This record gives sequence, C-alpha cells and structure tokens, in this order.
Amino acid sequence: MLTSIATVSLSGDLREKLDAIADAGFDGVEIFENDLLTFDGSPRDVGQTIRDLGLKLVTFQPFRDFEGMPEPQRTRAFDRAERKFDLMAELGTDLLMVCSNVSPQSLGGLDRAAQDLAELGDRAAKRGLRIAFEALSWGRHISDYRDSWEVVRRASHPNVGLVLDTFHIMARKVPIKAIASIPGDKIFLVQVADAPILEMDPLSWSRHFRCFPGQGDFPLADFMRNLAQTGYDGPLSLEIFNDQFRSSSTKTVAKDGLRSLIYLGDGVEGVTVGAKATTLPPKAEARHVEFVEFAVEEENAESLATLFSAMGFEKRGSHRSKAVTWWKQNNINFVINCEKDGFAHAYNIVHGPSVCAVGLKVNDAGATMNRAEALLAAPFRQNVAPGEIEMPAIRGVGGSLIYFLDDQSELASIWDVEFDAATPDAGPKTSGLLQAVDHVSYSMQYEEMLSWLLFFTAIFDLGKMPTLDIPDPGGLVQSQVVQARDGGVRLILNGSQSPNTQHSQFLSEFFGSGVQHIALSSSDIFESVAQCRKNGVEILPIPENYYDDIEARFGLSPDLLDRLQANNILYDRDDDGEYFQAYSKTFASRFFFELVERRDYRGFGAANAPIRLASQKRLNRRDTSD
Ligand code: MG
Ligand code: MG
Repeated sequence: MLTSIATVSLSGDLREKLDAIADAGFDGVEIFENDLLTFDGSPRDVGQTIRDLGLKLVTFQPFRDFEGMPEPQRTRAFDRAERKFDLMAELGTDLLMVCSNVSPQSLGGLDRAAQDLAELGDRAAKRGLRIAFEALSWGRHISDYRDSWEVVRRASHPNVGLVLDTFHIMARKVPIKAIASIPGDKIFLVQVADAPILEMDPLSWSRHFRCFPGQGDFPLADFMRNLAQTGYDGPLSLEIFNDQFRSSSTKTVAKDGLRSLIYLGDGVEGVTVGAKATTLPPKAEARHVEFVEFAVEEENAESLATLFSAMGFEKRGSHRSKAVTWWKQNNINFVINCEKDGFAHAYNIVHGPSVCAVGLKVNDAGATMNRAEALLAAPFRQNVAPGEIEMPAIRGVGGSLIYFLDDQSELASIWDVEFDAATPDAGPKTSGLLQAVDHVSYSMQYEEMLSWLLFFTAIFDLGKMPTLDIPDPGGLVQSQVVQARDGGVRLILNGSQSPNTQHSQFLSEFFGSGVQHIALSSSDIFESVAQCRKNGVEILPIPENYYDDIEARFGLSPDLLDRLQANNILYDRDDDGEYFQAYSKTFASRFFFELVERRDYRGFGAANAPIRLASQKRLNRRDTSD
C-alpha cells in the first residue's frame, strides 16, 4: 500500500506542507480543496510541484452534499462536479472523493444514491476519472460504511468505488468484520486516523481530536487485518484534523505521520506499507535504565559529584580517554560528563547542567537500532577511539540521546572496557539503599506529547497509561506514562499549555524539552532520606496540612504519620499497595531527584504531584528572594 497523507493534517502553507510530506518520505498526498484555494499558484503549478517532489496525487477532496438531491439542486450538484473534474484535470489526479450528504434537503434511499453515483461515474469515465464514496459518521442518510458499500455495489460502475475511513467507522462503533468481504478492487481509498475515546459528537471529535495511528485508542490493527483480507493494495492515507498538530512543526508532524503508518503495517500479515517497505525487527524489550548521563561544566561537576556521594553513590571509575566519571549504587549508574567538546558539551552549552543521555538495557541493541531507524528515529554517531565500544544511539526528547545496551554483545562489558577503576573515595558511606532507576520524567511542549508517545510505544514494547491532568499552582500539567509490562522501564511525558506552570518555566530556562526528574527506588525510604539529610542533601519540605489530610484520608497510625512528616515523605495507597516519595531540591534550577519506595504499588503518586509542585514553587520563591 502506498503511504499518503492529506494536506489538511499539517500546518503551514501548501508549499511547506508538500515539502515536508516529500521530505518525510511519503509516496503520495491528498489535496484538500481549502489548501488549494488559499494558495497563490495555479492548480497546474500545484500538480507539477507535487510530481516534481516525486509524490503521487492520490485524490482531490472533499466533494460534499452530492447524492440524493431533489431538483433543481441535483442538476447544480452535477454542474459543481463537472467544475471539480476540470480542476482535477489541471492538478493531474484521477480520483474525486465524495463524502455522504449532510444537507437537510437531501433525500434518503440507497437506490437513489446509487443512481446518482452511477451517473457521476459515467461523466467521470468520459474524462478518465474515478469517484470514491465515503460515509461520513454524521452523514444525513448514509453514515455507516456498510451502507456506502451497498450504494457503491448497486451503482455497479467501474469508475465508482468506496472510501474506508477508520475514524467514521470507529466513531460509530460499527462492526468491522464486514470489511473483509468487500472486494479489494472496489475500495479506491483507505483513510486512517486514530482518536482517543471521548464522549462527544462525532463532528467535533473528528475535527479536533483525530490523531495518528498509535496515538489514540482505536483498534486499528483489527481494521488492518480485515483490510488485508480484501486484497486492497491502494493508498493508505492519513487524514488528521488535530489542534496539537496545527500548532506543531510541519516537518515533525509529517515524519510522525509516516512513522505511524509504518508502525500500523508492522506485524499485519499480508500488508506491506510504503513503496520502500521493509520488515521490522520485533518491538524492543526495554529492560531497565542502565545509566543516566549528566552534561555539566567543571564547577557544577564538583557539586553534582558531592550530591551523588551524599546520596550514597560510589565513584567507580574514570573514563580512559575522556573527562567522564562513573558513579554507581546497586543497579543505578550515573555518568558525569565534562568533556570540552563532543555531544555532551554541545548539549550543556544549550541547556546548562542537564541529563544529556539515558542508556536503556534492551534485549538486542543491534535489532533495537534497526527497528528505531526503520521507524525514522534519527541515529546518532560519534567518533569512537581505538579500544572503545560503539554504543548505538538515537535522538530522543529535546535532542538528548537514548543509548542501547544489551547483555549479548560486547556492550555488556562497556563499563570495564572504558573506565579505569577509581581509588575508593573518602566520601560519606551509606549502606547503598538506592536500588534502581524507578522512572525518568521528561518535560516537553504540550504539542510534542503525541509525537513522543508514538516514538516510545512504536520502537519499544512499552504500554501507555491513561493521561492525567495534574494541577500546578500556575495551571494544568498533562502527564502520560509509558512503561514496560514488568515496570522495568517507566517514562513519564509531561506537557502543559499554560505558560505559568513550573513545567513551562523549566522549558524556558532549559531552552527546550528534556529530562526534568529522575526517580530512584529505595529499599527503605525512611533510612534513605535520613542518610541523605545527614550528608547534607536538602529534601523538599512538605507542608503540615498535607499530613493532616492524609491522616484523615488513609487513617494512618500516629507513628507512621510522624515518621512521614519528620522526613518530608509523601504517601499514597491504592488497592494494590503503598507508595512513599521524597524529593531533592532542584539542582542548578534544572533537574531533581525523587526517592521512592513501592510496596506492591504500580502508580506514580499522582495525587501528591500538586503538593510537590506547590512546595517546589515555594522553595524557588524562597531561593530567588535570598
Ligand atoms: Mg475521510
Ligand atoms: Mg515521580
């Protein structure tokens, strides 16, 4: 199936859209009439531009309110169609997309609609054109693909075929089994869109919340399996109306679109998506966060090392050829990079002290890299000194890196190969209660959230949780968790539309999206917090009112309540278990650490997030007024 996208899916003017569509690597494009009307250039020029970019003009759309009209509207509808045919000849496309009639003047009856389409088919045939008929989910008489298919079947005209649009089908919860029995050569166009499940009228739902396959909740893999049985081999075209996309980068959205189509075809038997289709390795199993790399300049490197040491980390080694040190505690590896050139340095210049990379342990680093590249991730490569191991990497959120490691290749020995063992350091000793990276939390522009959701869930075997709205003193923050089934890797994507949230302040101070916090699991959070404080780590103070509230809410024992309050530990409980959280002060106004202890609890303490945000805001105000 050819990959295609409707111009309406992207922001920008028609020329920008076409360039982005071609750059992303689509095979074809659907031209939306409005994009043509607002463009200053003739339809002939537009058609030529499309062909020069190596794209196929799949269809011109939409043609509205056609079938079932009484006279004199019927004659006028045919006249309008003839004018569209003229335009199509200039553009150089042979397919007109007709949406089912929404006009109150239109008359019902499948035979009447079939006769109109057959007559339109005759007129189209004279010019070598074709008609594709779509059931809008809010169509006046025809709103179900089974009816539009019946109309096309009765029209029985070689130049009249069917459009299947997954939004219209799924918005009305129409059973999709019947698709499999439609002959593939009578389907002229397939439009795919996903959407979150929302209770609202289909028109508003469609106009604002459509999204790329994989970003919403529709069972599109089932749709594809049914479609595969028809033998259809025409265009698979994205038709997305989405408010986030309209305020996002044209190029990024176009690339996300192609990624979503490749992902949609992945693993569906009998379907190849794209002219240059390849078979993808299976989804990568993300096992755990193997390391977090911090890019800092020298003066901050020292205070970060002091912080790590105070948190119970031990300096394990120094890189053999770079100004890079390795800090370890149980399964947590931290890397401090203060090289004067290279990626981390460049990242530091833009963002200040920051997390520039996260290393993920996967089942197979090479296969993960292949899958990521097939799904259009940007690979990252830098010079590898003799004796060093090349670690595969791709660009992640905000241009930071995601490295891949595994246990089956030479990557398993990277620490020993690249680092000289450090002499035991004299810093404060703890019994090493911190065990692993529990989760990594990214802050990003609200418009980027769907993009990174698709990125992480398409490349890795990570599932998404329902999104949450977290109140910050300055507005709402939207939070989306993606995680491995066993919880080995948990990532949180946060975005906010309000410029006044701390989230948004992070983005402006940080000059972009990136890691804002790293949560570390502790085997005994009370002891961890006590040790941190003893070693001079400032823990975020939590107001007394919070403890009054949770005492009443959870009926906690006075003893537990005292211990929570004395240590500034937040508490949550659900049907599965209990959760304890404490936060470090923000390092260099950039990132902070969270200590967590899970007792059979699988959430993230969302109920506590507003408390944490308000406390951080208070602390920031105190620090800036000092
Ligand atoms: Mg459509
Ligand atoms: Mg957290």
